[in-house]
Amino acid sequence: MLSVSDAEAIILNLVQPLDDQRDTEVVDLLAADSRILARPITSSLDFPHWDNSAMDGYAARYEDVQHSSTEKPAVLEIVEEIPAGYQPKSTIQTGQAARIFTGAVLPAGADTIVMQEKTRQEDKRVFILDAPKPQEFVRHKAAFYQAGTQLLPAGIKLNAPEIAVLAAAQCSQLRVYRRPRVAIFSTGDELLAIDQPLQPGQIVDSNQYAIAALVRQTGAEPLILGIVKDDPVALEMSITHAIAIADLVISSGGVSVGDYDYVDKILESLQAKIHIRAVQITPGKPLTVATFPTQNSALYFGLPGNPAAVLVTFWRFVLPAIKKLSGISEGWGPVFLKVRSHDELRSHGQRETYLWGKLHLIDGVHEFHKAGGSHSSGNLINLAQTNALAVLPIGKTLISPQEEVLVLQLSNG
Ligand code: AMP
Ligand code: MG
Repeated sequence: MLSVSDAEAIILNLVQPLDDQRDTEVVDLLAADSRILARPITSSLDFPHWDNSAMDGYAARYEDVQHSSTEKPAVLEIVEEIPAGYQPKSTIQTGQAARIFTGAVLPAGADTIVMQEKTRQEDKRVFILDAPKPQEFVRHKAAFYQAGTQLLPAGIKLNAPEIAVLAAAQCSQLRVYRRPRVAIFSTGDELLAIDQPLQPGQIVDSNQYAIAALVRQTGAEPLILGIVKDDPVALEMSITHAIAIADLVISSGGVSVGDYDYVDKILESLQAKIHIRAVQITPGKPLTVATFPTQNSALYFGLPGNPAAVLVTFWRFVLPAIKKLSGISEGWGPVFLKVRSHDELRSHGQRETYLWGKLHLIDGVHEFHKAGGSHSSGNLINLAQTNALAVLPIGKTLISPQEEVLVLQLSNG
């Protein structure tokens, strides 16, 4: 059986990122947050666009003010007032200064800003009470970014900082990757749609909702295909439809060894190449990953049916795949932190074991608190509020309270 890290490597190797030409669209900057930039951005503007002041104060010539002190202040004639947004008219000559405000353009002749707090103004004269450093508080043209060089690379997710940069560079529209399409369906004769009356033996198909939420959080578009019976014909139709409309397919249930677990058999009959059938992970051992070399580039994830297994295998294996698919150029894998465990953590030691819970910050140190109640893969109730998974490697059967443990941090928490 494959180790978790081998399975992860196989999966990432199978993922073909969206095409940076065909699989893109143009969006308005206001609608671009969380999208993935498809082209590098270059600006024809320098940042700052011109020399300007970083302070409210006085623009002067350094040579005029370099020996100033409270006892022997330089006294300069104020020849102009330059608020932000105005183009200065004068050139500062020896013995002159301009009143200037933060962000305003540095006038010609001046090379240094004396901050207001180090001055005293009397009518049209300013007394410089302290010597500034040469060029102090001047933000020089192009000091932050030089026109024509790369402003942002392709393959990054656009969050508030990048959006601010793009706005400042006057990119009101930009080319991003389209959202990956992820088809989702649930398999099982016991499953019931959310709004139907529950009969003995039935449970609500909660996986569909969980997976749709997880997919949406990645920025991908969930295509919700509903419940499919444990029936080979129905399954074949659903899989065929799903791989035709989606970049990635996620089913839950039907991948174990039970008599009604048909997914792998149907995949084989559709000439899929099954890359993974099981992984050394708890929960989530019966995990199927397949591609369809004779049909298209869709990647198929058959997750086990148990709700905890669905979440754990999604976070561990599907999320990195969706990230790579979406055009993000790096950082697909999960983030692991070494933290202190608040609780005793146990595993049978046979497989890499994931226990769900919450990370708390105690006196500046992260501490993992295991969710109370059963860690059976069939229990979904105590999954609520999970923001981290503690990982016990194969062979590790016990982590005592206060011992260190590796946790997978979930970004939704
Ligand atoms: P399976 O992997 O098909 O053997 O399913 C294992 C168990 O997971 C089932 O007995 C159900 O209790 C549960 N299960 C399967 N599918 C779902 C679903 N869509 N929503 C909630 N629970 C499910
Ligand atoms: Mg089933």
